[in-house]
Amino acid sequence: MFLPRIQTMGRQIMRKKCETNEIGLGKRKFLPPALFHLIFAAFLTFLPFFSGFFSPELLSAEPAACSVCGRRIKGGETYYTASGKIYCSKKCFETTFPKCTVCGKKSEKGFRNESGAFFCSRECLSSSWNKCAGCGKRAQSGLIVGGEDGKFFCPDCAQKPRCFACGMPFDCEKIEDGRLICPHCQESAVTDFNEFLEILNNTRKLMREKLQIQTEHEITFRLVDRPTLDKITPGSGSQDELGAFKFEKMTEKVVLHTGATLFSGPTKKTIEENVSISRKIFILSHLPKKKLIEVCAHELAHDWMQEFFPHINRLKTKEGWAEFVAWRINSIVGSEDLNRRIEQNLHPDYGDGFRMMKQIYTKSGFKGVLRFIEEENRKESPNK
Ligand SMILES: [Zn+2]
Ligand SMILES: [Zn+2]
Ligand SMILES: [Zn+2]
Ligand SMILES: [Zn+2]
Ligand SMILES: [Zn+2]
Repeated sequence: MFLPRIQTMGRQIMRKKCETNEIGLGKRKFLPPALFHLIFAAFLTFLPFFSGFFSPELLSAEPAACSVCGRRIKGGETYYTASGKIYCSKKCFETTFPKCTVCGKKSEKGFRNESGAFFCSRECLSSSWNKCAGCGKRAQSGLIVGGEDGKFFCPDCAQKPRCFACGMPFDCEKIEDGRLICPHCQESAVTDFNEFLEILNNTRKLMREKLQIQTEHEITFRLVDRPTLDKITPGSGSQDELGAFKFEKMTEKVVLHTGATLFSGPTKKTIEENVSISRKIFILSHLPKKKLIEVCAHELAHDWMQEFFPHINRLKTKEGWAEFVAWRINSIVGSEDLNRRIEQNLHPDYGDGFRMMKQIYTKSGFKGVLRFIEEENRKESPNK
């Protein structure tokens, strides 16, 4: 938070009149006229002796010259002193004033902020303040929402309820399930199933073409409201889920009675048979298009991991991978701004998991990440 300290500045200036009548001998502290005349008369008397090696400047202990332009103050002339310095005119004195950081005007009085910048007026000072992303007013203090490079909000706007999608305290509107959405997110909010499906298929295609992450099987997709998603992801805790991937393997147990004899009785043999596998992706409605792409990439990454590395159970690996894929897709589609949330997430599975993947990616590339996943799968495999 930035809170400039306001300081009024200004130096004491005094207007004085040069009391001597003698041109060229102006002094700041003037001798009493009688004594001055006596010395001057003596000087004139001895002038022939001194001429050539004695100049009037030497006689005058403090020559009254302007500290800006160097001009001598003439007898009877008005001059100014401030902080022990002499100025021949107001104009010369004004050149020593600090320059306003905003309008460039030199001013005697004004304000300095914490970093020492000078402002000539309250208007110039306030124009240096942050502009509220909500109401547009400039405010001396406020709140930055959305991490390090988030948006600035004035104290009034910072108190407003937050948008479910971007988390910003803009003027939100309520949707059917009670969620609040801001006008910016509302602009591209996806509520139509066909539009959702098109975005999802495009994301799947991007993952296949750019990252070679693909699955061929059928996935059921559903666009749901908050209560429905909460029922699907119980106990997700503080993290407000925006989507979910559900994998269900329906198996049927077949019991065979074989080898019945008179002595041992029938022997039971149980065989497990896969009957059906269902894969479902649930995504929250009203997500802005850019955010929807990110959430689709995240859930599709779960589907891919389940298909090829089914033994991985560690949440940090699962969520770290899904966030890493979403992060890559965000970069590919030019939504780098959404990546700040992923990078700055403090969650031990989502945030730490992502940073773990990114570290491997930075060091050993995408192949390194795949090798790591393969190894994790092997370690968690029941028949390794
Ligand atoms: Zn001057
Ligand atoms: Zn100014
Ligand atoms: Zn505001
Ligand atoms: Zn929003
Ligand atoms: Zn996930």
